[in-house]
Amino acid sequence: MSWLIGAGLAGLIALSAHRARLLTTGGALTAALIGTVVFGVGGVWASVPMVVFFLSGSLLPRVFGRPHKTEQRTAFQVLANGLAPALCCVGVLLYPERSEVFWLGYAVSLATANADTWATEFGVRFSTTARLITTGRRVMSGESGAVSAIGTLGGIMGAWIAVTLCIPLLDDSTALGIAFGMGVGGMFLDSLLGATLQARFRCHTCGATHEKRRCCNTPAHPIRGIPWIDNNAVNLLTTLTVTGIALLWG
Ligand SMILES: [Zn+2]
Repeated sequence: MSWLIGAGLAGLIALSAHRARLLTTGGALTAALIGTVVFGVGGVWASVPMVVFFLSGSLLPRVFGRPHKTEQRTAFQVLANGLAPALCCVGVLLYPERSEVFWLGYAVSLATANADTWATEFGVRFSTTARLITTGRRVMSGESGAVSAIGTLGGIMGAWIAVTLCIPLLDDSTALGIAFGMGVGGMFLDSLLGATLQARFRCHTCGATHEKRRCCNTPAHPIRGIPWIDNNAVNLLTTLTVTGIALLWG
């Protein structure tokens, strides 16, 4: 029964998000599937932190007056942050006797994703310059691998809110502390991978460096990282890694 309700609610939210141009068709289908699994396994208490993560990621850019940043999320973008928590729910379903470990992983994955999202939004909105996490070089706020004090503070708030919403799922205050700490750690891992693995390109026509493969109607040239690793791939790698560590540890 909870699966039917879950499918109905997740479908409704995904459809509304699609109508509001927050998700592509593929993104909406993926979000509906993930939402169904989360509600089917964990009901309302598991769904609340997931919905808050999704809504805050979509609404923060609008609240902060960066509506142009709210591009429609594709299936891969949804999976980048949604696959790890969805897999944890499948873990609860398959191994109910180890459910507390998988709920810890669920909280860690959402704390990491929410911290990264909030750090980016706060950093880009309130901080003009940031430093590259690897070399300390001054860079534009929002660049991959860039960290700033305000962004970090926003990320810590994001992790804290996600973990607080996961309290009904977690065993005790130790699990709560682990999830919060790992969420903040995951945010820094995301920056580290963004500064090293994530591809950056230079356009030989206008001289700009950025994360886009094409610029000025020509292919841009890779100057850093692995060419096929973009921000979504870094998010996917980070959430899966941090969640995996939590599951092994728990
Ligand atoms: Zn260009």
